[in-house]
Amino acid sequence: MIGISWRREQGLADPLLKRLVEEAGLENVPQWNKKDDVRTAAHDEWMALAEDRDGPVNPTETKVNDPATITADIQAKAKALGADLIGCTELTPIMVDLDFDMPHKNVIGIVVKEDYANVLKGSLAIEAETFRVYVEVAQIATELAAHIRELGYPAWAHHNGITQIQAIPTLYHCGIGELGRHGSLINPDIAANFRPSFVTTDLPLEVNQPLDFGVQDYCEKCNLCRNNCPGDAIATDHIVTEGIKRWRIDMEKCYPFSRLHEAYCHICVDVCPYVFKENGDADKRLKYKAYMKQRKEDGYRSPNRL
Ligand code: SF4
Ligand code: SF4
Repeated sequence: MIGISWRREQGLADPLLKRLVEEAGLENVPQWNKKDDVRTAAHDEWMALAEDRDGPVNPTETKVNDPATITADIQAKAKALGADLIGCTELTPIMVDLDFDMPHKNVIGIVVKEDYANVLKGSLAIEAETFRVYVEVAQIATELAAHIRELGYPAWAHHNGITQIQAIPTLYHCGIGELGRHGSLINPDIAANFRPSFVTTDLPLEVNQPLDFGVQDYCEKCNLCRNNCPGDAIATDHIVTEGIKRWRIDMEKCYPFSRLHEAYCHICVDVCPYVFKENGDADKRLKYKAYMKQRKEDGYRSPNRL
């Protein structure tokens, strides 16, 4: 299958970001070029894992009589490795990078949650947590792919070190979350505070269905991410692409805050009330309220329906 989805380039290879960097009189992208030990160590780890994304396939194939049973086994294995959520779906061209010839039929979406408490410690703590989770989820994908190859089926790991998988449409079809106004997927238990990795494979699997628990109806009235976005980058009105309702993020307005500062911007995800709304976690609710108090002190609009 040939992929049809364009992947946004990173750093100065992204023409929009290159123009904004030049207009700001900068030589480079502060967010991508920042050097610190946490970022460097994490980057080195997922690049090292990239070398193990594939490997020899056991010539003795484990017979799969019931995809539901093997899927349950794979889920249990992923959870034992540290995954918080996993889902499976059949690959379609929109889930694969433009012009990439994907040899596998199925994809497994793997998610590890971030610790929301870091929002109270500031942008550097949020960023360090993000990098930590990206390493963890890359390790899980690498080990899960090796496990599937041991069962006698080809499998590749996809993560920050190497990937040809488009995260949002793939996780959506894996049933991990519903698309929120902020452009990220919202899960009823962990909201959008998670990082993903993937395994593509020919192992027969039972597929999930997209989640629908009313997020998009709520987004029509909520607007907290839009009201708190420092760049006013989040759309008021939705569009529909490939039959999926979504709200656009204007990257020209987002980049000055998410890329042209050294500090990370994660505000749209962290102000989302689904952090606690669906799972009723009292501790998360308290942390959310404390964070929104900080936001208010920073001059942004306070939530009106807590
Ligand atoms: S990352 Fe920051 S600037 Fe970009 S959309 Fe989210 S809140 Fe707005
Ligand atoms: S903050 Fe509100 S509008 Fe934005 S994604 Fe979350 S629920 Fe939807």
